[in-house]
Amino acid sequence: MPRLCANTAHGCGYYGADGRLHGTYPIRAIRNMFRRLYAELSMRGCVINLHSYGCLNFTALPYVNGTWYGENLQTAYIKGSNEDMPLDYFRAEYTGRNMGVPVEFIAYENRPVWNFENAVAMSIIHGILPRPNDIGHPLDLMSGIWRVIDSFPIAKSEWHPYWSCGDITSDPRAKCSYYVYTAPDGEKQYLAFISNTTAEELSGITLSIDKAITRMIDAIEGGNVSELTLGPFGYRILYMK
Ligand SMILES: [Zn+2]
Repeated sequence: MPRLCANTAHGCGYYGADGRLHGTYPIRAIRNMFRRLYAELSMRGCVINLHSYGCLNFTALPYVNGTWYGENLQTAYIKGSNEDMPLDYFRAEYTGRNMGVPVEFIAYENRPVWNFENAVAMSIIHGILPRPNDIGHPLDLMSGIWRVIDSFPIAKSEWHPYWSCGDITSDPRAKCSYYVYTAPDGEKQYLAFISNTTAEELSGITLSIDKAITRMIDAIEGGNVSELTLGPFGYRILYMK
């Protein structure tokens, strides 16, 4: 990221009218460096996944394939905050849609007050996923979610995020975003993500996405579902048809 730098050996800084050396922010140098990296690496079939938080490096974003960050928002949760999920903040900083570069959410645990499952809950209703940062538990958990996502024709589906589909959960503290796939014969299939945006357990949650839906199946655990119970910052993933 372009920090203030006065090192003339790498082209930064300038001498002002006061005769003193002042710093500059190497925004253009960073953009040029990423442009060169992208050209060299994409020729070799590589991708650039940038770990640089927020939008500070936005001039380099045209030359990266994806970004990975999430610490800013999670710091308070890792310390044990019970605050409701800041959904508007999440949409602004973490969905990647405003900058046009896909985001993977970074997830640091501090069990029991904040865990990888909570980071999943925060991400999936926004159409992004956390990246497992270790083998073992987070990789096993995410492998199950990747399998569900691979099982659904997402590329041929429409995305309906919670902020554009009105009240479809019986409790506004639970948010639901979903993909809908319409088969050539007109039959619809749904893949829905439902998250509890609070630290309170929610129960008896029902969904009203489409009256034609007759069956809801837990995509991870299997089995039919009617009403949902969601633990603190918990989530469920459902197939529906
Ligand atoms: Zn410098």
